[in-house]
Amino acid sequence: MTPALVLATRNPGKLREFQALLEPLGCRVLSLGDLGVTEEIEENGETFAENARLKSVGYSRLLPLPVLADDSGLVVDALGGRPGIHSARYAGPEAGDSDRVRKLLRELGQLPGAPRSARFVCALALSHAGSPRIEVEGACSGIIIDEARGTRGFGYDPVFFFPALGKTFAELDEAEKNRHSHRARAVRALLASDTLAALITPSRAARNC
Ligand code: IMP
Repeated sequence: MTPALVLATRNPGKLREFQALLEPLGCRVLSLGDLGVTEEIEENGETFAENARLKSVGYSRLLPLPVLADDSGLVVDALGGRPGIHSARYAGPEAGDSDRVRKLLRELGQLPGAPRSARFVCALALSHAGSPRIEVEGACSGIIIDEARGTRGFGYDPVFFFPALGKTFAELDEAEKNRHSHRARAVRALLASDTLAALITPSRAARNC
């Protein structure tokens, strides 16, 4: 049986990116939806790493497969690190991506002359049978610009300008974003881990499936 791992996200943008990034593993990447998991694990940690661990440990107690969870977000220096771990709900639970971007630009607009430096952060935790096994983090620095540019990606991508390529993340094609993003950097660290190979080799996975 092909080895498999479960990705603990319901965000379609993140799921698509992870599926491409994890391709070198040669294993099936299943989502919570694929497995009919409806439980929600509360993300009440104080850091990206704590939230990723809470999700991966929690879902791996419910499933017979290794579970990879991420917590990611945008850290804006002039806002003291906000929205940070609250990036998804920054503009309230019902708000969409464009509401969050508008709120970010409004807050920064109230701080004329403040630095526009920011970084995306992605913490990853892989757990199996309720035990955390691998924890890594990746970050990518950029600048928040005043007007949205580009139509690709998701979330804050249209206002996150990446100086190394002279484009916002929403102007990058998927392959470019997947070379440079915080998620790509975290996944590269994950793929370099010996523990990962041991967790998803076919013999182990067959026992786990
Ligand atoms: P999470 O699902 O709690 O990890 O929420 C992460 C939130 O951070 C997302 O809903 C986005 O608003 C934002 N975010 C994370 N990664 C990215 C990215 O690659 N581009 C744009 N926004 C992102």
